[in-house]
Amino acid sequence: MEDEELAKTEKFIKRLKTDYPEIKFRNKAKRFSYQLRGAVPVVFLGEPQPNFALLTLHELGHALCKHKDYKVDVERIKIESAAWEMAKTVLSEYRKKAQTETGLATILPEWDEDFVQDKMDTYRDWLHARSRCKKCGLTRYQTDDGKYHCPRCEAFTLA
Ligand SMILES: [Zn+2]
Ligand SMILES: [Zn+2]
Repeated sequence: MEDEELAKTEKFIKRLKTDYPEIKFRNKAKRFSYQLRGAVPVVFLGEPQPNFALLTLHELGHALCKHKDYKVDVERIKIESAAWEMAKTVLSEYRKKAQTETGLATILPEWDEDFVQDKMDTYRDWLHARSRCKKCGLTRYQTDDGKYHCPRCEAFTLA
């Protein structure tokens, strides 16, 4: 990240911390993530990288949606999509505020829809890889207990 971009991002993160005091932000984590620790939502900020501010908004989105762990993998796709939607909403609220608040517009990140869609693709790829049967390649289904079942291989087992 360039110095100017870095300074802008730092100011924006500082602003988020002020506006969301109920959420804890932890710096310098290995990767961006979100956890509910007891009743306290914690957002972990990863290493410097492009779209740092958007990734922060995404984790904040999880916190604002009060997301918990997913039980079945397909739920994760919904959760990730909801967190990005919330990130977009938060950013557009700031855009509205920036119309009357001097200086705010200069620290707001640009929404990068391609970046977000790439992220969504990686979750979909992850789901695809997880659900693929390693024996026969068929797409398996997951039951509420989190276990995957292959309609082909399990049918043969039962026969
Ligand atoms: Zn996420
Ligand atoms: Zn199979």
